[in-house]
Amino acid sequence: MRANYRLQRLFVEADLGPGAEFEADKDQFHYLAHVLRASEGTELLAFNGRDGEWLTRLTFPTRKKITLTTVEQTRPQPAPSDLHYLFAPLKTGRMDYMVQKAVEMGAGAIRPVMTRHVQGKPAKPERLAANIVEAAEQCGVLSVPELREPARLEDILDQWEPGRHLIFCDEDAESQNPLAALQTVQASKLALIVGPEGGFSDDERSLLRGLPFVTAIPLGPRILRADTAAVAALAVIQATIGDWR
Ligand code: SAM
Repeated sequence: MRANYRLQRLFVEADLGPGAEFEADKDQFHYLAHVLRASEGTELLAFNGRDGEWLTRLTFPTRKKITLTTVEQTRPQPAPSDLHYLFAPLKTGRMDYMVQKAVEMGAGAIRPVMTRHVQGKPAKPERLAANIVEAAEQCGVLSVPELREPARLEDILDQWEPGRHLIFCDEDAESQNPLAALQTVQASKLALIVGPEGGFSDDERSLLRGLPFVTAIPLGPRILRADTAAVAALAVIQATIGDWR
């Protein structure tokens, strides 16, 4: 079911169900009252990543308080995406963009990975979390991806989840077209890894290429910026073996 884009969407922590009533917190009050200029009876779509999407009405019991009351569920909670997006931190601006696009493209987990050539520092978790929520609100994404702690590539691979297949965007891959390699992937639990501006080191590349649960893919004849590569890779993965089928 397509989302309704007429109404504003708001991510909330509260449980949502028939007749649920909860108060806007400080940030939400500011956003609703001063940015959206909401008034008595304003309606929006609330979601919390667990209970689907709910048409919700605003009342102002006092000038300083907003109460939100659910009216009806407009979309059920979809199954969570099972595509993990692993990325080496980039410089802040591009990282904001990259995390938001990963959410829009259906990532189910956002996983910062520390690799040898990482130039940026790992972004603050609250910044990444804010980007995840912003993308979910703007694009009607109801299963909000989980955000993992940054971890070293070697440790992540050491403790790799059985049954999950890792697609490695390898700028040194021989061929140019990713479709042939992607069509060999049988797993339903997927993950994708994109390197930093400085690329993967030779050791990292041979470590990745030596693992049975890894498939290397090219992304065309040109070197892409990491945030471009992320969107390109997510598109071809979703279209061939992901949830665009
Ligand atoms: N090492 C690259 C170079 O030679 O300039 C720079 C790395 S690129 C900016 C960042 C990441 O995007 C790479 O590590 C890779 O994961 C992905 N990527 C970029 N272009 C790609 C391509 N043509 N094929 C596969 N992956 C690519």
